Amino acid sequence: METMISVHSALELITNHVKSLPVEVMQLEKANGFVLAEDIYAPENVPAFPQSSMDGYAFAFDNNRSDYKIVGEIAAGSKQTFELKQGEAVRIFTGAAVPLAADTVLMQEKALVESDKLTVNDESLNKGTNLRSIGSEIKKGTKALEKGTVLKPATIGFLASMGIAKVKVYPNPSVGILVTGNELRLPGEDLEYGQVFESNSFTLQSALNQLNINNVTIYRSEDNLNQLQTLLSQILEVNDLVLISGGVSVGDYDFTMDALEKCDVNAVFHKIKQKPGKPLLFGTKADKVIFGLPGNPASVLTCFYEYVLPAIGIMTERNVKLQAKKMVLTQEYQKQVGMTHFLKASHNNDLVYLETGQESYKLSSFANANCLAIIPENTSKIESGQEIEVHLFPF
Ligand code: AMP
Ligand code: MG
Repeated sequence: METMISVHSALELITNHVKSLPVEVMQLEKANGFVLAEDIYAPENVPAFPQSSMDGYAFAFDNNRSDYKIVGEIAAGSKQTFELKQGEAVRIFTGAAVPLAADTVLMQEKALVESDKLTVNDESLNKGTNLRSIGSEIKKGTKALEKGTVLKPATIGFLASMGIAKVKVYPNPSVGILVTGNELRLPGEDLEYGQVFESNSFTLQSALNQLNINNVTIYRSEDNLNQLQTLLSQILEVNDLVLISGGVSVGDYDFTMDALEKCDVNAVFHKIKQKPGKPLLFGTKADKVIFGLPGNPASVLTCFYEYVLPAIGIMTERNVKLQAKKMVLTQEYQKQVGMTHFLKASHNNDLVYLETGQESYKLSSFANANCLAIIPENTSKIESGQEIEVHLFPF
């Protein structure tokens, strides 16, 4: 296990140890937001028959003719066909199959009709007008969507329009959140002296839900090694990703490390040269991914944004990492070298303002922020007006 590593090394280790989840066949109506794990080829021509795009009259276009005889009617969905002769037309409606001998549809607003006689009143009418030819949307066998496409309403609809009911996608992980701490009470309960409200599971679950990850179960344990170990082994059975909150430092009541070891989790690293979130732990067990997040609420969210998000990105083949940008810091900032600082900040017009209240127990500054300002490990001072890297919050 590595310890007290740089931010860069931590990310590299995560990248090297996390794998994408096995591809899943998913019902189309559930697949919005997921990434396609296959190229999609059109199974049929769309449309599969010559289709009218207007309510009107279909016939074989004849430049020297303005009158046609109406011999029947075809509604959308009708199997009716007509063997039209020259000079004959059918009443037709949007979406209906145009008879093979016809090549043009006159919109009804441009038609003069007297009993079965149609007179064309459209100077601009050409052969092919208002007719969707076979395969004009997509031809059978043509590549319709690439593997790696993030599905969205338009692509879901497009797939449905080709008759595709199921697709192969990279699924979302099932997530177990394990909250530890004797001092924790749920919002809504009464606090006794020395107790605090439990907020980390709320933060984490909300962040996961924002990513469309809804298979999330919350477990709670006291600071008790046996209880923690029993629960953790159950959690590892049924979840792809385990997020443990608290107990990951080296205090007398911090049992997360011991419990992980007893559950045969391979601890890849523990502790990063960063503030907040120094005690972060990352491990694996077969293909399962485990993060031990330091319990302080701002550390939890910082570590989620900086480390858990990239891991989820790899598992789901999605690009969910925070977007990095260079922006100008509007104030001086000084620190000791040796730790990367992730500072709650707000950006506006490429200028960055640091929030007051950077302590790791404060969430109010996080609530006001829209990005993290990154002050690198080996930097001791940033001048006001100097460019720094910021990571923008996706939510
Ligand atoms: P720990 O990492 O367990 O040493 O906890 C560090 C600090 O975070 C302590 O002040 C805890 O009370 C607090 N803390 C731990 N877990 C939670 C939680 N789920 N919600 C709110 N605060 C927490
Ligand atoms: Mg604790």
